[in-house]
Amino acid sequence: MKTKLGLLYGGKSAEHKVSLQTALAVIRALDHEKFEIHPIYINVEGQWIKGPQLTGPVENVTALEFSQGNQLSPLSLAPALFQAEKQEQQPLDVIFPLLHGPNGEDGTVQGLLELLNLPYVGNGVLASAAGMDKVMMKNVFAQAGLSQVNYVAFIKSEWEMAKEAAYAEVEQVLGYPCFVKPANLGSSVGISKCTNRTELDAAFGEAFQFDRKVIIEEGVVAREIEVGVLGNDAPECSVAGEIVPKKDFYDYKAKYEDGETALIIPADISVEDYGQIKEMAIRAFKALDCSGLVRADFFLTKDGKALINEVNTMPGFTPFSMFPLLWKHTGVEYPQLIERLVNLAKERHAEKQ
Ligand code: ATP
Ligand code: MG
Ligand code: MG
Ligand code: MG
Repeated sequence: MKTKLGLLYGGKSAEHKVSLQTALAVIRALDHEKFEIHPIYINVEGQWIKGPQLTGPVENVTALEFSQGNQLSPLSLAPALFQAEKQEQQPLDVIFPLLHGPNGEDGTVQGLLELLNLPYVGNGVLASAAGMDKVMMKNVFAQAGLSQVNYVAFIKSEWEMAKEAAYAEVEQVLGYPCFVKPANLGSSVGISKCTNRTELDAAFGEAFQFDRKVIIEEGVVAREIEVGVLGNDAPECSVAGEIVPKKDFYDYKAKYEDGETALIIPADISVEDYGQIKEMAIRAFKALDCSGLVRADFFLTKDGKALINEVNTMPGFTPFSMFPLLWKHTGVEYPQLIERLVNLAKERHAEKQ
């Protein structure tokens, strides 16, 4: 029996395009003898559109951007409804939410899938929500005793009422350089590095275009090391990888447009540094109650101190993205990685029943 796999991609988020690339890659890699693929496209307006069942790989991203007309109510995915309406089609076995950012990686879609009682790949509601909000995530990490950079946060109305006070606090607590980020986003969208007040003012304005909450972090000079964590109750850690941005920092363009950033896998770090990072990654995974997968991002300072920067609960997932490459070097090829994730989803679902 083939596994009926619903691929959920696109999404109403600044990372819509990234998600489309991921969906294309996953469809190409899946064994079509083992999986029956049901694409569900979420367009930029947030409408769900069901595409035709795929019997093989598709040519390009355009083939996945179904136009309107075939709209789907998310609720109609519920197995109970499938049966009640005696639809010819059987319910889907597993959903793979290939979504990044708000309304996808943040627990909202996960909550819907929980209500529908459908198994789904990746993190649950709590881990997704806490992992999406950099402030909440860092609060949880602090509580778990994980080393990280200092940070402060503001919501938009606080900032609008007292900009000078906000800037003074940043300067006093963190100093320059600092990084201003929308609290709930990814792919470096809306992130700026600031070295003075003028830049800080512009950076707040920019970040608040994407979120009502921003986080400001102390800037560190450090190597950027990432690991992948895979599993449910007994998570495993991949080899480490290093990001070497050619530019000032690893911004959106460096990630997706220039292709100039070097990813070095395995990272050339000592056994002790790897051990420290691995231990922290697993601790972060457990602290956030993660399941399925995360990519954990670290800073490694000159004096060998690892600071956790963040975890991504639905990391970039094309075959050229860090997470799949890390697992490839650990011995898990891309198609097997997808199958492992689908199995982890089924396993977690079965445990809950
Ligand atoms: P993604 O989810 O794609 O990894 P993101 O939008 O969550 O990205 P971060 O990983 O927090 O963003 O930051 C993006 C990049 O900015 C980092 O990879 C690093 O190059 C730089 N950066 C972020 N925070 C800091 C910091 N505190 N000090 C130094 N560099 C930083
Ligand atoms: Mg992130
Ligand atoms: Mg992200
Ligand atoms: Mg990151």
